[in-house]
Amino acid sequence: MKAAPLLRAWLHRLRTQGLRVHVRHRRLGWDEENRLRFESPDGERRIRARATVLALGGASWPQLGSDGRWQALLRDAGIADASLRPANCGFEVAWSAHLRERFSGAPIKPVALTYEDTRRQGESVLGEYGIEGSLVYAFSARLRDAIARAGSATFTLDLLPALDAARVRREVLRPRGTRSWSSHLKTRLGIDGAKAALLRELLPKEDFDDPARIAAALKALPLTVTAPRPIAEAIGSAGGVRLEGLDAQVMLRDRPGVFCCGEMLDWEAPTGGYLLQATMASGRVAGMGTARHLDGPS
Ligand SMILES: Cc1cc2nc3c(=O)[nH]c(=O)nc-3n(C[C@H](O)[C@H](O)[C@H](O)COP(=O)(O)OP(=O)(O)OC[C@H]3O[C@@H](n4cnc5c(N)ncnc54)[C@H](O)[C@@H]3O)c2cc1C
Repeated sequence: MKAAPLLRAWLHRLRTQGLRVHVRHRRLGWDEENRLRFESPDGERRIRARATVLALGGASWPQLGSDGRWQALLRDAGIADASLRPANCGFEVAWSAHLRERFSGAPIKPVALTYEDTRRQGESVLGEYGIEGSLVYAFSARLRDAIARAGSATFTLDLLPALDAARVRREVLRPRGTRSWSSHLKTRLGIDGAKAALLRELLPKEDFDDPARIAAALKALPLTVTAPRPIAEAIGSAGGVRLEGLDAQVMLRDRPGVFCCGEMLDWEAPTGGYLLQATMASGRVAGMGTARHLDGPS
């Protein structure tokens, strides 16, 4: 099934089992009598609940509803959380006007990224503000944390991941005749378009006098990123309700009967289905915990 019919079928099944959905209700917090407060089209509503499952999401793409404002409400109630940070996000690079104007949106592929001791091959995309794409997202937690510690992070890009360094060096060193470097690299190694522009952008001009340096740069071009893009543009959020504050059923230790699940919990994962998987899995644990709680003494 495609996502939309699946969701419709799912909601239908839940409604026939007694689920009632109250749209346009924003949860505000608890009142002094421990009732749930909601902002609704008919004004504020207060509800006493034997069990509550909070599944309020992170703070990425707030236009879809999850804006992370629950953090303040939970903090007011004394529930500890780690601040929400962008996860699976792009990073800022101070590109020249030429690269920004001519190559923004251009994919760089195939390419391999090496950061510290990890190398991965994939695809990234040049953005107006920097670099993004699935390959960069895979390193985004480490890059974000390194930037928080040191102000920037540097990784290298292998623009020719299918060729070993010796072969690249051999091709670069072949006689170039009267050809320009760009035409030589294009003919011998297929380096053109965005890859050629990236090489020009990042390799110091004087290094173009030294074929060995060009060859080395093609296999390990250093790129420094200076900031993650804002959380509103990220695919996900790191941070959230601390796991230490939850029991094995994801119930808040300090608030019996209140369960938390999904992206509002303090975990992060790469894209590729893992976020939905962990969200559903924690939702299932919360559901079973809630059922057990309701079966217990009231
Ligand atoms: C562009 C994009 C692409 C993605 N692609 C993938 C992918 O390919 N694979 C993958 O695994 N994951 C992907 N994700 C991540 C995935 O969508 C999330 O991890 C997942 O939706 C989190 O589920 P959740 O139920 O915890 O939160 P959400 O889906 O964010 O749902 C939280 C809900 O709570 C509501 N809410 C928030 N505060 C309140 C309040 N105070 N009162 C009432 N309601 C409130 C929000 O309106 C929202 O409906 C993607 C995310 C984005 C933004």
